[in-house]
Amino acid sequence: MAAMSEPAAVPAHIPVPSAADIGQGIWSLPVPLPGNPLRYVVPYALEVSGGLVLIDAGWDDDEPWNALVNGLAAMGGSPQDVRGVLVTHAHPDHYGLAPRLREISGAWVALHPADRHMLAGDPAEAEQKFADGRRWLQRMGASAADVEAWAEVKDLAVSMLLAGLPDRELADGEVVADVPGFELTAIHTPGHTDGHVCFLDHGRGVLFSGDHVLAKISPNVSTMTSLLGNPLGVYLDSLRATGELDVDLALPAHVEPIAKLRERVVELLTHHEQRLAEILDTLTAESGLSTYEVASRQPWKRGWEGLAGQMCRAAVGETHAHLLELAARSLVAQEGDGPVVRWRAVEVSAPARPVTRLKPRGHSLGT
Ligand SMILES: [Zn+2]
Ligand SMILES: [Zn+2]
Repeated sequence: MAAMSEPAAVPAHIPVPSAADIGQGIWSLPVPLPGNPLRYVVPYALEVSGGLVLIDAGWDDDEPWNALVNGLAAMGGSPQDVRGVLVTHAHPDHYGLAPRLREISGAWVALHPADRHMLAGDPAEAEQKFADGRRWLQRMGASAADVEAWAEVKDLAVSMLLAGLPDRELADGEVVADVPGFELTAIHTPGHTDGHVCFLDHGRGVLFSGDHVLAKISPNVSTMTSLLGNPLGVYLDSLRATGELDVDLALPAHVEPIAKLRERVVELLTHHEQRLAEILDTLTAESGLSTYEVASRQPWKRGWEGLAGQMCRAAVGETHAHLLELAARSLVAQEGDGPVVRWRAVEVSAPARPVTRLKPRGHSLGT
């Protein structure tokens, strides 16, 4: 399931942007995200000889589909021209419409294999994954009401899991085949999802950054659907590596392009250090909290009470990811071995990797 929520990322009065020619054979084709505060996701279309290749596809519904078709028409194309879809990660706002494009044009769909576990090959596997989500909620200390609310999203969740499987696997460092006119290197950037990939066009100085690096909002890093032992630690490593890339422009899948990628990376790294410090402070003040309880004590922009359903689960998953990174730094530890994970701060006189304290402010949730 996607963790995608940002209460105030894109104000409601701002319309979904039109398709735009970015230059050098690249178009942005924003498509709406119905009912989501992020408002829209931005697939990119690459003009290749003999057709088009998309980077991400949009949410699988009629309104986004119509917007995608209109965007393709604005550049003189149609879904039948799409030769392939490079998907940055398996969240449904990126992967969703890829199988529909494949049905129409025979396009290949490429995804990193570490995101395969976010899709199901058959209904039994989908049921199993949905049950895993329920167990995860219980381990985090979810209330009975929240576990019940999880059952209500089952039909949607199962349908997203059964979106269809990719045809091709992307490997870290691979120059992607069948994108004539573009030399795109796939860069595995795990963290937001286990198999998240950015695409670097070195010649054009462009990085298609998916949900790995976004302007204005911090991408959600959660344990809910991750098989990584410490997704935030992995994400921070991915971010540092991304900051070393020599690019003129990052084209992310939400919000707006990023001209100063390195500076944005530093902001995101600083943001997470601040979150780590706040969460450590919470446990220093009060021991034995569940992950839900730790999350409820964080300074969310809308307040804890303003987070419901998927946004609440994203907040809990993000808090858990920070707790695991603090545990990796030996600053917190789990208590006991009950069905609900509980946490305490570790007494240390001089931590090997201290967290930096900055002035507190409210936090939004990322994609
Ligand atoms: Zn995402
Ligand atoms: Zn997204």
